[in-house]
Amino acid sequence: MSGGSDGVVDVVVIGSGPVGTAVARELADRDLALRVLVLEAGQALGDPAGGHVKNIADAKERDRVLAGLATGPEPLPGGTPARPGTVLVGAPDMPNAAMSTNVGGMGAHWTAACPRPVDDEVPDCIDPAVLDEALTRAEELLAVTTHAFDRAPLTGAVQTVLGQLFDGPHRRPVGAMPVAVTVGEDGALHWTGPAIIAGDLWQRPNVELRTGTLARRILLDGDRATGVEVVDLASGERSAIEARAVVIAADAFRTPQLLHASGVRPAALGRYLTEHPQVMAASLLDEKYVPEGALVDVDLPRSSAAAPGGGAIVPVSGVSWVPYAADRPFHGQVMQMDASPMPLDPGTTVRPGQVVGLGWFCKKELSPDNRVWLDDDAVDEHGLPAIRIDYTLSDADQAAIEAAKAEIAAAAAALGRPLGEPFVMPSGSSLHYLGTTRMGTADDGTSVCDPTGRVWGTANLYVGGNNVVPTATACNPTLTAVAIGVLTARTLAASLATLDVSEGAHP
Ligand SMILES: Cc1cc2nc3c(=O)[nH]c(=O)nc-3n(C[C@H](O)[C@H](O)[C@H](O)COP(=O)(O)OP(=O)(O)OC[C@H]3O[C@@H](n4cnc5c(N)ncnc54)[C@H](O)[C@@H]3O)c2cc1C
Repeated sequence: MSGGSDGVVDVVVIGSGPVGTAVARELADRDLALRVLVLEAGQALGDPAGGHVKNIADAKERDRVLAGLATGPEPLPGGTPARPGTVLVGAPDMPNAAMSTNVGGMGAHWTAACPRPVDDEVPDCIDPAVLDEALTRAEELLAVTTHAFDRAPLTGAVQTVLGQLFDGPHRRPVGAMPVAVTVGEDGALHWTGPAIIAGDLWQRPNVELRTGTLARRILLDGDRATGVEVVDLASGERSAIEARAVVIAADAFRTPQLLHASGVRPAALGRYLTEHPQVMAASLLDEKYVPEGALVDVDLPRSSAAAPGGGAIVPVSGVSWVPYAADRPFHGQVMQMDASPMPLDPGTTVRPGQVVGLGWFCKKELSPDNRVWLDDDAVDEHGLPAIRIDYTLSDADQAAIEAAKAEIAAAAAALGRPLGEPFVMPSGSSLHYLGTTRMGTADDGTSVCDPTGRVWGTANLYVGGNNVVPTATACNPTLTAVAIGVLTARTLAASLATLDVSEGAHP
């Protein structure tokens, strides 16, 4: 790119996950002349950079790639090992809190469920029509469809049973989950990673993805960001990059970390941390829904992600959706499996898709006391203030979890034979972390940025990610965060085109 390491770039975007990549893509699409530099601490996990690891066809190669990712802290009491592609933060209050450091961020590992927010999940500080259009753009960028699992046997039966339980007035009907997954000509599933969002972005002359480069500090002159201090993680060499504007999309833990390290500390920074308490259950679909002999010859292609032992999401899986509604505040994600992930009675024959896994995400009450905070007396491996988490479930949260357990138990029973009791996952398991740089309409101490993502008290410093979502939600957040990132990029591109930031105007 013409900016290069020594020149001034127009926008530095920090983080190459779905949001950082979408911001860069929208900026570059809006104005081909903009020089956009994306900084990513991690490395590419394959070719293309930012591709989903499940698309790596060779299982051994996939395992090798995942094994090569840095290992983090051991599981804490009450927690479980980190999901592949992530490392644990190491926070006792949220033992399964995790993050990914690689090109594509968590978006190289995600399950790709992309429901739209609805009712009180929708941030009311964005015009609903504007958000709606941005969600459509986000769906395009992520290649979201409800047809990826059309060939899954038994999905119709599952959706009928769940529809009878949960469909109702003012609710979206039970149906196929919108997923960022496409089906190739060979029938295999192709998972959207940020490489799909990027398209030809990294080949464009004015755009650069710089990997292995950690942003340590935003450089500021008064209320203006003037650039970013970075460290090349291979050589340890530090340098400064000048920029006309900066967007931080470095996840819900490291975005506040970077702001704090840079001395940008709005009162709400790190506060209102939420995630989705997760309740799980499984059921063996009743034989009455399984036409005799109908599935014996099923020979659908298995995805490259099929794992020995069962439980992988493959074309026979089917991913169904029990949508959130304000009067039923759980988001239900229902995945049929090719085999049971748990031992079944001897002699039980399981047909592909007959084991139904149910995951209910609960809406969590917002509280400023649930928060990420940065420890100035301790540093992480990069010398940045260490990430700490204060997080508790309120009485209302506990009640919501109990209600979700009852609901999911009813669903498991209606589907067939429940496989064990519903159980609650340790805090942090949803991998959806929201609120830590939330948006708001006024700089009143309850938000970190305005509805365009611009950090309060700054002229040209923006934040993106699930962390900007201000509402209590239950649905998977990435689609919403990408949509908001698209809007941030549009605001920024328009401002850079019309105003001269160097003269102090707000871009
Ligand atoms: C197994 C799994 C399943 C999931 N399933 C779903 C799902 O079905 N639906 C859904 O909506 N969401 C899901 N998620 C969550 C989803 O992946 C995240 O919401 C999404 O990736 C967030 O995008 P992001 O760009 O904001 O952040 P991230 O994807 O976390 O990317 C942040 C990037 O910033 C980089 N970074 C951080 N600090 C710095 C720094 N100082 N300098 C330079 N780079 C830095 C990181 O290395 C990382 O690459 C899942 C996640 C996982 C791991």
